[in-house]
Amino acid sequence: MEKILKKILEDNKKFYKDGKVADYIPALGKANIEDCGITIIDKDKNIHSVGDYNKKFTIQSISKIITLMLAIMDKGFEEVFQIVGYEGTERPFNTISYLESEKVKKAINPMLNSGAIAVTSLIKGDGEKKFDRILELVKVLALNSKIDYDREVYKSEKDTGDRNKAIAYLMKSRGIINGDIESTLDSYFKQCSININTIDLANIAFSIANRFEDVDLESHIDKKKLSSLLISIMVHSGMYNFSGEWSAKVGIPSKSGVAGGVLSVVPDKYGIGFFGPSLDENGNSILGYKVIGELSNELDLNIY
Ligand code: GLN
Repeated sequence: MEKILKKILEDNKKFYKDGKVADYIPALGKANIEDCGITIIDKDKNIHSVGDYNKKFTIQSISKIITLMLAIMDKGFEEVFQIVGYEGTERPFNTISYLESEKVKKAINPMLNSGAIAVTSLIKGDGEKKFDRILELVKVLALNSKIDYDREVYKSEKDTGDRNKAIAYLMKSRGIINGDIESTLDSYFKQCSININTIDLANIAFSIANRFEDVDLESHIDKKKLSSLLISIMVHSGMYNFSGEWSAKVGIPSKSGVAGGVLSVVPDKYGIGFFGPSLDENGNSILGYKVIGELSNELDLNIY
């Protein structure tokens, strides 16, 4: 496995030149654009890592999977999907204008910033407690109790997060969300700033692939139903407005973040964590697309 992974990384790492690192959150602009690493965990729980697999980066939008999971554990499937929808969209992740229409009664889906902020508003816990519970779940799924959030990225997100603040307050004015908006936003900025590496991501992906079999979720939720839902959402919305092409060409349900992380789930088989901060125009890792796409061909992982 390591040999295959090494060759795929070697063959593709030159493509970092086709993208750029996210700099709309200033602290993310400091990333090394050439970084590229991957971890894959197989059915027997063997861990295979190559490249910059050990480098830390912030989880960003991949946290949207975790918050969706926790909101469902807290409130149940029905209540969550009363304020977010199931459908994919061609709109970018930070879309806002659609929320103005009187006809719109919920955020489009939980993988957009709007949908994720709505989902976070449902998670139980006042003030700091909301985020503490999200961080705790990340630690449990990643099998790593040392995970923390990056204070510099958090501050940078908060200082420049005007669009996310506008999204949250517009949703409040439309009656989609309620409660303490500032504490929901604070949790959203912190959850995006959680620091992880590809091993952590692969462990989270494996727990989903493995239907949370080994995980104590401290909830009576149907674990299989929960994992199926997360996987189906990743299929149509995990890679934003590139999800259709990603599904057609890579064929592995995945979720990306603007720091360059990609979490990929091969149901009942593999968990994959990838890191490469050079992004395409949709905010997805360019190297992630190349490397995971080739890996999918090589190991015959396409789920369709
Ligand atoms: N923190 C980022 C934002 O809210 C997350 C977006 C992403 O990873 N696509 O803009």
